[in-house]
Amino acid sequence: MSKKHGKADKKNTKKSAGAKGASKKSAKAAKPAGKKSASKKIVPGKLVYFFGDKGSDGDATMKNLLGGKGANLAEMAGIGLPVPPGFTITTEVCTAYDPKKGTYPKPLAGQVDAALARLEKAMGKKFGDTANPLLVSVRSGARASMPGMMDTVLNLGLNDATVEGLAKKSGNDRFAWDSYRRFVQMYGDVVMGLKPESAKEADPFEAIIEKKKEKLGVHLDTELTTEHLKELVAEFKAAVKKFAGRPFPTDPKEQLWGAIGAVFKSWTNERATVYRKLNNIPEAWGTAVNVQSMVFGNMGDASATGVAFTRDPGTGEKRFFGEFLVNAQGEDVVAGTRTPQQITRVASREWARQSGVAEKERASRFPSLEEVMPECNKQLLAAADRLEKHYRDMQDLEFTIENGRLWMLQTRNGKRTAGAAVRIAVEMEKEGLIDKNAAVLRVAPDQIDQLLHPTIDAKAAKTLVAKGLGASPGAASGQVVFSAEEAVAAKAKGIKTILVRTETSPEDIAGMDAAEGILTAKGGRTSHAAVVARGMGKCCVVGCEALRIDYKTGVMTSNGMTVKDGDWITLDGATGSVYLGQVPTSQAKVSGDFSKLMGWADKVRRLGVRTNADTPHDAEVARGFGAEGIGLCRTEHMFFEGNRIDAVREMILATTLDAREKALAKLLPYQRKDFAGIFKAMNGLPVTVRLLDPPLHEFLPHSDEEYTDLARKTGLQKAQLEQTGELLHEFNPMLGHRGCRLAITYPEIYAMQTRAIIEAAVEVAGKGVKVFPEIMIPLVATESELKKLRKLVIDTAEDVLSKKKKKLAYTVGTMIEVPRAALVADAIARHADFFSFGTNDLTQMGFGLSRDDAGRFLPEYVESGVLDDDPFLTIDQGGIGVLMQIAVEKGRSVKAGLKLGICGEHGGDPRSVIFCDRIGLDYVSCSPYRVPVARLAAAHAALTK
Ligand code: PEP
Ligand code: MG
Repeated sequence: MSKKHGKADKKNTKKSAGAKGASKKSAKAAKPAGKKSASKKIVPGKLVYFFGDKGSDGDATMKNLLGGKGANLAEMAGIGLPVPPGFTITTEVCTAYDPKKGTYPKPLAGQVDAALARLEKAMGKKFGDTANPLLVSVRSGARASMPGMMDTVLNLGLNDATVEGLAKKSGNDRFAWDSYRRFVQMYGDVVMGLKPESAKEADPFEAIIEKKKEKLGVHLDTELTTEHLKELVAEFKAAVKKFAGRPFPTDPKEQLWGAIGAVFKSWTNERATVYRKLNNIPEAWGTAVNVQSMVFGNMGDASATGVAFTRDPGTGEKRFFGEFLVNAQGEDVVAGTRTPQQITRVASREWARQSGVAEKERASRFPSLEEVMPECNKQLLAAADRLEKHYRDMQDLEFTIENGRLWMLQTRNGKRTAGAAVRIAVEMEKEGLIDKNAAVLRVAPDQIDQLLHPTIDAKAAKTLVAKGLGASPGAASGQVVFSAEEAVAAKAKGIKTILVRTETSPEDIAGMDAAEGILTAKGGRTSHAAVVARGMGKCCVVGCEALRIDYKTGVMTSNGMTVKDGDWITLDGATGSVYLGQVPTSQAKVSGDFSKLMGWADKVRRLGVRTNADTPHDAEVARGFGAEGIGLCRTEHMFFEGNRIDAVREMILATTLDAREKALAKLLPYQRKDFAGIFKAMNGLPVTVRLLDPPLHEFLPHSDEEYTDLARKTGLQKAQLEQTGELLHEFNPMLGHRGCRLAITYPEIYAMQTRAIIEAAVEVAGKGVKVFPEIMIPLVATESELKKLRKLVIDTAEDVLSKKKKKLAYTVGTMIEVPRAALVADAIARHADFFSFGTNDLTQMGFGLSRDDAGRFLPEYVESGVLDDDPFLTIDQGGIGVLMQIAVEKGRSVKAGLKLGICGEHGGDPRSVIFCDRIGLDYVSCSPYRVPVARLAAAHAALTK
């Protein structure tokens, strides 16, 4: 639907109001915090970098060349932590590797041999040695983390002879044969291709194991003896040979090259390719391959494996947080088949309390690492402390203990919730680990949305009923109502509702306000529902195309599910998900740490942050969030309150100037009161009031009853009213009689609004309120439009002031939202005190995308990669952004100090905010709940210049 502020059910109307903005990865934005310059350790022509055992060839700055994992292993080993030694084959080899021919750059073989010899020396073991064999893992490791997308081979180096060496060395036959069994299985799958052909097929190796267990009458893998495992190895190898037409390789070197090739090939497998597309990871980056000596957490009761965070990733509290399992391999900890134990005694006791486990049982069955391996625990805590201080950030660690010896397998900056991110950043500054600017950069602006709205409990069970566009974040549950009136009535009875509409219109405002959340079947992120909901800070999902709503029967259906009037649903306004029933949510809490961090952000940002607000309440909310003024007050939003609509309709349907002026005179006191309220709420701060923008027909009656009612109230003929209404119909109202075009034909409308603004300003100024009105004229495309209307505004304002014998400073500016206006911005600037970019319309008209209809196909454009981003969400910097730059340059070429802002929805999108900073705007303006996001983004912009 359309409508700037009009009704829902007409065709070809236009939709309204703001949306967020804009686009592209912020061009010049930001080197990642703490990124160091290229390492001196990079050696041209070097394809293999060793790590571990007295230092490393590489370091943490070499992620592009060594991948994230390789670079961090090198760094950890470099600072003297116990890392199983190994070597990294660079991402450059991946780029040069020809998977079809299996050819590598020539020097690679020699460099791998040399690294292998160094590894053997470091470990005191030999590759292929029957007495003391070296075993390695071969893993991928790209620049960006791609969890589980590529292949891995473990226990490489085992064959019928070396397995005996491993058995002897470990004193554990079963362990040795189980490792061998796992190796043949993994290698057979990853390198030799024996795997299920479809998701429906069973894994061929698992099928062999199942057959054996069935024959033996056992249920668990652990019930298989060493003899059974030996049989399995033989059966696995036979199956591989039958499938691949060649025997399973026994030579460890041949095994190694097979695995290296397979890992490089897995860079272009289907799941990795899909993941890269979804996460914007270029194929050209390639992956590195890490060959690392194996250490075993499953060698017996003196061995263990675990994962840990240096601080609590959920709350940010500074306490070591981790889990481990004795006699286990890494995946056992996360697989959920055994109950992992806590690392510290305190955490273990806390876990026991929460799980209802008595202390005696805890101490015997689930003791902490601190209790069972005190020495290793001490080393682990020391290593964690060291790593956190070294990286100056919370670390996510993996470790293994092999026969009482601790090995660190991985470290990376840990993922955390928004609340934890804020707390960790602020506490690390206090601890002297980072400075204030680094702390500000540690928190992603988008992330803090989570702090301002309730969120869905991630662990709760849920049934998805529909998926749309997440238009306004937060989570809300309520009983379904299909009309605004029902929402209002339910609220009066204390009932929580979700207002479900095909689309909303300004008349639904009261219902939207009464509901907990809003769901629409149509519309995009700039639809009326989206804009209004964001303004209210209310959760909203729009554009749920699968949703079919039958207002008559009070039923909606989606994906074969039916939801009736009164049924409970839950919305996730961040992801666009709609769930059946009441899904538990967590309330937003704003901490003192948050205010502190925002204070630091405010100190460094250049860009001002204002808000889009149409009511004193929204203005106050935004002020509370730190807004420094109003960048857009949409006056038409005020036309629907109470019974003002009657006067509005009378004005529109008037056929003479006299009649129109009479109707406008009725509206004047309402508008004056609204403006006075807003000026008071923004005491001391500028307020940009935009004059009427939407096409007039949006305010017309839509039903027979409404026409009857209007005829009764105005004393006019119903038939005549209907006829005038018909005449106002437009085929393409978004490009029709709206914005300043209304005032070119009916100047008395803008004259009334100007009068209301100036009278309100004089009135509140008389009460000591500091008021700075900025009158903004929308949809200007030509110099003459603005010249004429500026004169109208100034003449009216001066008339009011001279009659009242008052002085008042005010400015008159325009929106730049028609592409032509951007191109002739120098001429337009001559008549403007300021420009504000209306990037919703600028995107609509510049990109040729209907704000109301693009939601039907834009998601597919983005999913399939035809567009990087939804241009209504983030500024299309390569296109619409260029129009903005032209307008900035041309405008300032005429008036150097021309004030520039943005009030399209993009003003609350972090990437767009950074872009606005780069092109020299003075401020951004966004919905109240996005104000903190914009403040933080503006600080990021300043710090990453
Ligand atoms: C815009 O076009 O970006 C704008 C702010 O105006 P509206 O959304 O009301 O058309
Ligand atoms: Mg606009």
